[in-house]
Amino acid sequence: MAIKKGAQNCPLCNSEANSGPSISVSDQYKCFQCEICKAFVAQLTAEEILFTMPREQRLEYSKKSIDAKEGTVLVIYFKRDGSSKIPKAVYESKEKWFGRDKF
Ligand SMILES: [Zn+2]
Repeated sequence: MAIKKGAQNCPLCNSEANSGPSISVSDQYKCFQCEICKAFVAQLTAEEILFTMPREQRLEYSKKSIDAKEGTVLVIYFKRDGSSKIPKAVYESKEKWFGRDKF
């Protein structure tokens, strides 16, 4: 299983979510499973930034995550090259991040 279960606050909507390091891709990323935002992935650096962002901005990521097509997940990451002050978000294969089973 690519995700070890642990309860924490969702960095997007603040409700309770399960999260775990993405062992299959990089331990610098965490897989989340939230009842509201569904499944998504956040880089550790991006997660820290998300918690400091205004609620409306975080909820935009939440909406994007909810809108993910079948088989894809939103991956939220932060580039350190100064091109953006807020984390970027792209859709990637859910299986790549979460593995085949469970999610
Ligand atoms: Zn959430």
